[in-house]
Amino acid sequence: MENIVILSGGGIKSAVCAWRYAKDHELTLVHLSFGQAGSSAELNATAELSRELPHAKLIPLVLPHVTSLQHGGEHGASAVGATGVVGTPTHNSDVSTLSPVMLAGIAPMILSVGVQVALRVGASTVVTGITQTAEGGHLGLAPPEPRHDNRREMIHGLAIAFDALLAAKTRVKIETPLMDLSYAEIVQLAVRFDLSLETCWTCCASGLSACNTCQQCKARSQAFTQARAVDPASTVMPAHS
Ligand SMILES: [Zn+2]
Repeated sequence: MENIVILSGGGIKSAVCAWRYAKDHELTLVHLSFGQAGSSAELNATAELSRELPHAKLIPLVLPHVTSLQHGGEHGASAVGATGVVGTPTHNSDVSTLSPVMLAGIAPMILSVGVQVALRVGASTVVTGITQTAEGGHLGLAPPEPRHDNRREMIHGLAIAFDALLAAKTRVKIETPLMDLSYAEIVQLAVRFDLSLETCWTCCASGLSACNTCQQCKARSQAFTQARAVDPASTVMPAHS
């Protein structure tokens, strides 16, 4: 049975991707932690997904260098350095004084890690649920950020780069089955697949339950409304305090 890598953030897109391939593939779910607030909840959701799938294993990876760059002085280089993971930064390389920021353009890095995992586990394909459609944008919500790193052109460019880097016998494909779908259309697929949507985590915040106020929570709610579906998680998501 062919093995493929699914890049999972614990959300609905990842779950739809996984179940699309679950029947006739072994799946390696990869969750990356790089300083995002909801990382623990994302990982828990991905672990739950891996238990539901018939042939799946989970590989959680931590990228402390990206956390350092993203969080600067708050949770970044100093904290990571104190654990000895990457060492204490030198005077000339200290990023601990930088302000926290959401890094742009990290999709190529995430895909690159996915390809490396594929090479390690003998997988032929890396699947990502990224979409070109700005979540919430088509629903009247302001898109959170321009997502130039999610565009089809970026995927094509990376595929060419990986082909050039890897020998033909170790070629790894990148597939983006949801690229041109709206969030509502993805929700409709999830309902059709009868997925456990209550365990899919999409909130940007940390905590035991979704905040219901962040852009991702609003976009999820709007997508379910447009898909004429009921979000099972909405009945168990108290307002964040
Ligand atoms: Zn939220």
